[in-house]
Amino acid sequence: MSSWLLIKGGTVIDGTGGKPIQNGSVLVKDDNIENVGQEISVGPLQPADSVVEIDARGKTVMPGLIDAHCHTSFGEARMQEEQDLYTSHELRTLRSAWNVTKVLRSGVTGISDPGGSYFIGVGIREGIREGLIQGPRMTSAGRFISTSNGISDWYPSSVGVPDSSIGKVANTVDEMVTEIRYQAKNGVDLIKIGDSILGDTEAFSTDEIKAMSEAAHRLNTRITMHARGSNNVDSAIAAELDWIMHGNTLTDDTIERLADSKIPLCPTLLLPGNLAEFGTEVGVPTSTRDAYARLLESTADALHKVREAGVTLISGTDTGFAATPYGEWHARELELLMRYAGMTALEAIKAATHDCALVLGEEHNVGSISIGKTADILIVDGNPLEDIRILQDPAKIETVILGGVVQIFDDEVLQQKRPYERAQHICPQEITYDLVYNGGETEQIDLREFDNENQIDLARELIAKEQTS
Ligand SMILES: [Zn+2]
Repeated sequence: MSSWLLIKGGTVIDGTGGKPIQNGSVLVKDDNIENVGQEISVGPLQPADSVVEIDARGKTVMPGLIDAHCHTSFGEARMQEEQDLYTSHELRTLRSAWNVTKVLRSGVTGISDPGGSYFIGVGIREGIREGLIQGPRMTSAGRFISTSNGISDWYPSSVGVPDSSIGKVANTVDEMVTEIRYQAKNGVDLIKIGDSILGDTEAFSTDEIKAMSEAAHRLNTRITMHARGSNNVDSAIAAELDWIMHGNTLTDDTIERLADSKIPLCPTLLLPGNLAEFGTEVGVPTSTRDAYARLLESTADALHKVREAGVTLISGTDTGFAATPYGEWHARELELLMRYAGMTALEAIKAATHDCALVLGEEHNVGSISIGKTADILIVDGNPLEDIRILQDPAKIETVILGGVVQIFDDEVLQQKRPYERAQHICPQEITYDLVYNGGETEQIDLREFDNENQIDLARELIAKEQTS
């Protein structure tokens, strides 16, 4: 007994970069793509088979998007402490389970989680596989492996990197390899190395990264690295990592080495892109906005050369921060790849589907609409080749098919706002004698600076007081 699904008469973009099929159809049998083309019929049918037809005229039929950089346990963090300190792991897990459904709803049928708290990502992956949670197919890292000079060791040394953090400090090769053994034993698909935050220094030596790469590969896990600068990327290439994250400032020599290595690069433009373009709408200081705009400029130089050199670029968003909420902007990475790397719309779709499937370890199974592959398919109202941004509009993502199953969502429930973890601010300004009794000035307070609703009330009171005095 089989379930047949015939998606009829749409524009089929198969994800491989090939020419779209006009008036094309896709036939799905159970979880597999059985046929693709213009004249397709269902069958041969067995007596108990079921058949569903979807009319896709005027629509685009394309592979589900894959996001190579989606931190499921970050919880839309507004501040670093929220990621590392305040939210319990139990609550982070529940929030992650909630958030992956939003990711799937937005048309993302595959994600790779490159690092986060404990083994929450591994648990979410298993929960999805067992059908406990509605979410995309998934691979996951554990905590970032970092040194005292790399990403995740940002608090004063008197605090250190707490167990609840998204990172784990390993300052010697022994510690690095021990952590990899521990993470592999606990079921990670990949190891995430956290080199220096901005790429201006090298938190790891090349030999250390080579040792981690060997250890990870010996244990059948993949390994990737946060690498923003040329030196970081050079080390990642020398250590034969599976793919590289960021690559913001790259010399021509590094670009040549990267191209020769055939290692894919995941630029992850969304986080700086959203902060630079939309940050001021939520009170991000203009200095921060300008810093990200400058970062994007240097990235654009590098990425145009990277693309011309033939490096495979894959799509990842750094979803999981307040600037990059779950299910909101995954498809904006395609727009940014076009703008900052000079890709065509068809190339950007390939980067977010076919070429990205390797981060799921399923490059032969998903990522394109090809006969024999698993049916992860989107039906989109409109043509993303004319305007790539339609993929960002939830109203245009009409149907999400995961493993041959049409997904059903309760949009009203998914759109509910959830609370965030509050910062422990105590008071937004000094309350001085002068202020209280001599009409001293209150600072011009931007309500949006405050992360705590109580504080916002307090700030409102201060402003009201200022206006009436
Ligand atoms: Zn990230």
